[in-house]
Amino acid sequence: MALREVLQFPDERLRGVAEPIDEITDEIRGLARDMCDVMYDEPGIGLAAPQLGSPVRLIVVDTEWNEEGGDKNPLILVNPEIVEASGTITWTEGCLSVPDFEAEVERAERVRLQARDLDGKEVEIEAEKLQAVCFQHEIDHLDGVLFIDRISRLKRNRYIERRKKQLRREQEEE
Ligand SMILES: [Zn+2]
Repeated sequence: MALREVLQFPDERLRGVAEPIDEITDEIRGLARDMCDVMYDEPGIGLAAPQLGSPVRLIVVDTEWNEEGGDKNPLILVNPEIVEASGTITWTEGCLSVPDFEAEVERAERVRLQARDLDGKEVEIEAEKLQAVCFQHEIDHLDGVLFIDRISRLKRNRYIERRKKQLRREQEEE
């Protein structure tokens, strides 16, 4: 089965606010599977539904697995919400929707979040460091926010210029 394509900046669909999920249907379960497939294939450590063009509040995260090993054990979270955040940490972030760019972003060091799992059961998760950063990054996607919105205007504009040039080149080659 072909993997679904990850939308890339500056695609406007990355900028919408995603809708809460009222009912966990087969469609939502299928979307979660597609998201995990894409996340492990890329590979990435997290993905939000809007990145695949589905404007609903669903994220998948796996900060344990990597290409060298570890078990694939994705956290699949429906309507995730950060209910508590503390500390600050600076982390170098990248994003499957923001090609060829990494930058340091300041985030909360620890978060507590509430969500539902795919069975509709309420879950509460406490996370710190990389996992906390990843949750904040993915939940941002649900609100149409990208990590480049959280860096200095100068760095962001530099990236946007580079990206525009890259897209122009790609168009010329077609
Ligand atoms: Zn991202």
